Amino acid sequence: MSHKARKRFGQHFLHDQNIIQRIINTITADNSTRIVEIGPGMGALTIPLLQAMGRLDVVEIDRDLAQQLAERCRDIGTLHIHIMDVLQFDFCGLGTDKIKVVGNLPFNISTPLLFHLLNNMHCIDSMLFMMQKEVVDRICAQPNNRSYGRLSVMVQSECTARKLFNIAPGAFTPVPKVESSMVSLTPKIPMTSPVSDKLIFSQVVKQAFNQRRKTIRNSLKGLVDEAVLLDVGIVHSQRAENLSVADYIKLANFLHDTHNLRRKNCG
Ligand code: SAM
Repeated sequence: MSHKARKRFGQHFLHDQNIIQRIINTITADNSTRIVEIGPGMGALTIPLLQAMGRLDVVEIDRDLAQQLAERCRDIGTLHIHIMDVLQFDFCGLGTDKIKVVGNLPFNISTPLLFHLLNNMHCIDSMLFMMQKEVVDRICAQPNNRSYGRLSVMVQSECTARKLFNIAPGAFTPVPKVESSMVSLTPKIPMTSPVSDKLIFSQVVKQAFNQRRKTIRNSLKGLVDEAVLLDVGIVHSQRAENLSVADYIKLANFLHDTHNLRRKNCG
């Protein structure tokens, strides 16, 4: 395939066959699982996956690449190409059992894409992504760590996140400026402590990390008072990065419950 990489689409194509094989080996799936690949590009992962599975769904924004890929894969298997922005893609609209989502993600949209996937979690069996190493480190970070932040809490509230291995920039053309990592994300089902209201949860986490150097009492001012923190068992002098994912869920669920109680009493 001939193609000039487009920077605006975060195009860095994998060419290292050892890495490609290593990724394919981690995407273990039986033939009944439907796989959706995000950003197939020139097919580095698509072709071996299609050979193994016989059919595959891919979401690609670049029309030229999609056309070339369709021709190349014609005799390999059934390739459903969704030519569109993956941020608009309805993962749960495929009308199938749970899906496995994989891909070497475009760096420029990896965070909004993760949030989009978090809203589609009920139809996702598992996810396996290659992303900027720094983003993977943030996703997997534990409390009391500099990398621990909003992304860690939001992803880990829904998924078990596991970093698999790093990939050096030389595995791609053009060579990116940063290192990459593979990450595995598995939805927590059944959830041990589910979030009651995603909107409240997201608001609490966002506000806490907006001013991460402040104590949690100060950063959540206006939303939560000291008495609430005490009720939930959170020490008010801690900072956002000291609270566990379970602490954030407890806090947001407490706010949700008291809000509902107040509404009931008023009604
Ligand atoms: N999978 C190929 C590989 O490993 O060589 C290409 C990976 S490249 C890092 C990212 C791919 O995602 C490109 O093909 C790019 O065109 C596509 N892409 C970028 N933004 C996208 C978007 N918003 N929606 C769908 N695909 C997108």
